[in-house]
Amino acid sequence: MTKILISADMEGATGVTWPADCLPGTPEWQRCRPMFTSDVNAAVAGFFDGGADEVLVNEAHMTMRNLLLEQLDDRASMLTGRHKALGMVEGVQHGDIDGIAFVGYHTGAGDEGVLAHTYLGNSLTGVFVDGVRASEGLLNALVAAEYGTPVVLVTGDDRTCADARGYAPDAPAVAVKDHVSRYAAVCRTPARTAAAIRAAAARAVALAVRHEPAAPVPRNVEIEFDAEHLAGAATVVPGVERTGPCRVAYTAPGMYEGIRCFKAVTTLVSAAVEEWYG
Ligand SMILES: [Zn+2]
Repeated sequence: MTKILISADMEGATGVTWPADCLPGTPEWQRCRPMFTSDVNAAVAGFFDGGADEVLVNEAHMTMRNLLLEQLDDRASMLTGRHKALGMVEGVQHGDIDGIAFVGYHTGAGDEGVLAHTYLGNSLTGVFVDGVRASEGLLNALVAAEYGTPVVLVTGDDRTCADARGYAPDAPAVAVKDHVSRYAAVCRTPARTAAAIRAAAARAVALAVRHEPAAPVPRNVEIEFDAEHLAGAATVVPGVERTGPCRVAYTAPGMYEGIRCFKAVTTLVSAAVEEWYG
């Protein structure tokens, strides 16, 4: 019995290169939703080709209401909507996920990559875990590891694939586009990317072997903002302390608490961003 969880973000989907492409409600987003759904369907089909028994898709982008359920592979189930304990990797905490796939992922704030960011589209210029610059992929991989779940597949732009080598060196990584700038990429068509994702997902099932959950390790998480008052806003969260004019840090007993505190910080900070001056 092999169960796969797909964490589906949209910035790294086929054809997506511009904020409006993944901004809910825009005509561009409506146009890109089928391409995003195509990437996810390719991964679902590949996982079943490779022998998986169950696939759960967790929406992980913005409102978490982007994928087209009516076009989803019938064999998969989908968790849609916001306010989930673990957000992007909701479901991994139940301890029955043998492998997790990051589909449509992107690089982190401060790195090269199409639509690179970490949770907040702007304002946040870097996240560092134990001193290492972290993407959402790395943060979520550390959370999954606490439940014994390995990352088995990553898709996104070519920079995202390079980033994945750092946290999931054995997992197949599929570049659906090649980075040119933060808002430009050389894109491959949905038919081509679907074939590549499906083949990689089929191979990835062999890596879906759940381990004993690792004991949580205390983690230092440091966050850098582009304005001083945002660091001040973040210190409202108990345990979050200022480490510089635009920086705060906290130490979490493990990554479950680490990612939940990060969520609290980004939620508070986004409410403190003013329209013209940030
Ligand atoms: Zn996203």
